[in-house]
Amino acid sequence: MTGERLPSDFFDALPALEPGWVWLVGGGPGDPGLITALGLKALAHADVVLHDALIDERLLALARPGAEKIYAGKRAGVKSCKQDEICDELVRQARAGRRVLRLKGGDPFVFGRGGEEAQALARAGVPFRVVPGITAGIGGLAYAGIPVTHRDTNHAVTFITGHGHDGRLPHLDWGRVAKSAPTLVFYMGRKFADEIAQVLIAGGRARNEPAAIVANAARPDQSVIVTTLGGLAAAAKRSPALSIIVIGENVKLAEELNWLAAAGPGEALPGSIKPAQRS
Ligand code: SAH
Repeated sequence: MTGERLPSDFFDALPALEPGWVWLVGGGPGDPGLITALGLKALAHADVVLHDALIDERLLALARPGAEKIYAGKRAGVKSCKQDEICDELVRQARAGRRVLRLKGGDPFVFGRGGEEAQALARAGVPFRVVPGITAGIGGLAYAGIPVTHRDTNHAVTFITGHGHDGRLPHLDWGRVAKSAPTLVFYMGRKFADEIAQVLIAGGRARNEPAAIVANAARPDQSVIVTTLGGLAAAAKRSPALSIIVIGENVKLAEELNWLAAAGPGEALPGSIKPAQRS
C-alpha cells in the first residue's frame, strides 16, 4: 500500500463483536495478512483475546490497547490448558459481559476443536459467531506452490489427522483411506510419518508417489521438503515440527509454482502486515 487507508465504511458495515458474545475466529496458517476482515475487526473491539500457540505476535499486537490477552493453547510437549478449562473460561468471560475473541490458528473448525468450544457456548446459551480462517492444509500448501486440487491430478482430497485421541495414529481403515482420494493431506502427522507411509503403501499407494512436508507454512521460516511416499519417514526427521504432509501427484506442481521462493530468499512474505503499515 502507498499510504491509502483501508475503507472504514467497509469495516463499519461488517458485524461487530458485542459485549457478552464470543467470536471463534480463524487466524490463518501463519502470515498475519491471511486473517479475514471480520477477524481484524474483532481484534480491534475485543476486551479479551484467548489465543493458541499458533497465533503470530504481529496479530496479537493489533488487539485493542488494553485488551487482555490470555494464552489458551494446546501443543504437544508444551504445558497446555485442558479443553474443558478453555470452554469454561469462554463462558465465564462472556457472562461477565466482555467481548470475547477466541483466536485460533488456521480455521477454527478444522482439527482445531472449535466445534467443541462452539458446543460449550451453545449449551451455555452464550451467543457466538464463527469466523472461518484459512486452514494450513489448503493455505499452507498454497504457500508452497501446491494447489490442493488440480484438474490434471486430483478431483478429490482427503484431510486426515495423524494424531488420534490416544496420542497415536488414529484407528482408521487405512486401506480405505489409501483409496479415498488421489491427494491425502495430513495434519499433525510428522511424528507418525513412518507409520503413515507404511499403512498407505500396504493400502496400495505407490512407494514412488510424490509427497511433501510443508513446515512453518506461510511463516518467514517456511520449509518445503519434496520427497516420495517411500522417503517420507526420512524427510520427516529433517523437517521442523509444525508441518503438513501432502501425498499425491499435485506435489509435482511445486517445482513450477513455488512463487514464494521465486520472490527471493529472505524477502518478507508478500502480503505480510509490516508494523510501519499499521494505522
Ligand atoms: N485449525 C488449524 C489446525 C490445528 S491442528 C488449521 O486449520 O490449520 C495443528 C496442526 O496444523 C499442526 O500440527 C500442523 O499439522 C498444522 N499446521 C498449523 N499451522 C501450520 C503451519 N503454519 N505450517 C504447517 N503446518 C501447520
